[in-house]
Amino acid sequence: MSTSSEATTLTAFTVQEDGQIQIEWADNAAFTFPASWVRFHCACAHCVDEWAGTRLVDPATIPADIVPKKATPVGNYAVQIVWSDGHDTGYYGYDSLRAIPPAPADWDAYLAGEKAWPKDEGAVA
Ligand SMILES: [Zn+2]
Repeated sequence: MSTSSEATTLTAFTVQEDGQIQIEWADNAAFTFPASWVRFHCACAHCVDEWAGTRLVDPATIPADIVPKKATPVGNYAVQIVWSDGHDTGYYGYDSLRAIPPAPADWDAYLAGEKAWPKDEGAVA
């Protein structure tokens, strides 16, 4: 992965009709994620235990059809997203936005509560 500043310069943040979020970067990389997956990666104090560094969000509590109601750039380093579930305290730094991995193939099963998210895997570095 490139560490150039272009890799962490956001050029587009688009909510598609199917609810997926397309994120484009100045180095021409583009990623498409389920909105719920981006919501899951919120790093605010409500979503991540600041001491343990573990994720507090249970995917089963995230509405499968969640979408950003509003995405506002914060300086040149982050975007603040207001989610349709009312969650609005998350700032997504471009570094961490760029670092979001692809959603697992069975993400829908976690959203549906059919699978429990392993706590360790949700740990934030
Ligand atoms: Zn949060």
